[in-house]
Amino acid sequence: MAKVKVVKSREELLARKYYERFRNPAIKEMLIVKTQIRKAMANYLYNNSFLEISAVMISPETDPLCHDVFSTDFEYYGETYTPTKSMILHKMIAVSGIDKFFCFSPNLRLEEKETADSGRHLFEFTQLDLEVKDAHRDDLLKLGEEIYIHVFTEIKKNCKKQLDFFNRELKIPETPFKRITFEEAMDKFGKNFEVILSEKMEEPFWLIDIPDWKREFYDKEDPKRPKILLDMDLIYPQGFGEGLSGGMRENEYEKIKERIIRQKLDPNDYKLYLELAKLGLPPSGGFGIGIERITRYICGLKHVKDATLFPKIPGELSL
Ligand code: AMP
Ligand code: MG
Repeated sequence: MAKVKVVKSREELLARKYYERFRNPAIKEMLIVKTQIRKAMANYLYNNSFLEISAVMISPETDPLCHDVFSTDFEYYGETYTPTKSMILHKMIAVSGIDKFFCFSPNLRLEEKETADSGRHLFEFTQLDLEVKDAHRDDLLKLGEEIYIHVFTEIKKNCKKQLDFFNRELKIPETPFKRITFEEAMDKFGKNFEVILSEKMEEPFWLIDIPDWKREFYDKEDPKRPKILLDMDLIYPQGFGEGLSGGMRENEYEKIKERIIRQKLDPNDYKLYLELAKLGLPPSGGFGIGIERITRYICGLKHVKDATLFPKIPGELSL
């Protein structure tokens, strides 16, 4: 008798994937590491007088990232809201009253499906997002290094079994981490410098002085070097790529408005935030560390989708 070919629905196939996912021991070992990462981050910050704030999940105004790809707006009693792509605008406002704070903040960014191949992109992820009043870039670089060193040290101490499970040797990097300017990196390695450098390096390093055309309007322009920003990325070695972005903030109304226009964005999309800037925003700086990406790096996982339980993979139906 001829065999009948059974065509499975995508829901059946996906259900099977999740069924197997939660029966694979790797998911629990990963989660033990991630739990320890978050605990180490929070402990470091509590011990350094940071307060924890709750995540703002929806807002009428948010970070412009990925704005021109898909809309996530929804109407509510005649007002338009959107899920936050980052908490940057809220951080710049809150820092007026709270000098140092952090948040484990979930972000929705509808990334294009091609980004799934990078191994680093999800369309829903979580950041450890923090902001510090009056912080200069050197303070932020030092703070970032201290957080990483604390996390790596705690993981080596508390997650020996998990590091063995993932066959991962985690080295504690030396401080200060190496710094390379965007210009130097471009000159030496060309447009693809980030991938090349990340693969070449054995320890995390800073990429600094990223130009305005590469960044959003809220990172501060160096008053002495127009169009160069007082910002930074932390790049993981061994090809794991970017793991942190941040910088000092543009806090003066006129300057923010000029930068919004320079980026060809519509100031009407930032009305409330601009009104607040007119009233006065203090100088501040901060950064965000992607939780799934640091988990991926520490465990040495091939794809960031394995650094979370229900990964939102760009372009795929994801539970
Ligand atoms: P950003 O300020 O946009 O660089 O975001 C801060 C950090 O969040 C980045 O350095 C990454 O670690 C993480 N992140 C950003 N976008 C994604 C994404 N699509 N998937 C996973 N992590 C991300
Ligand atoms: Mg970034």
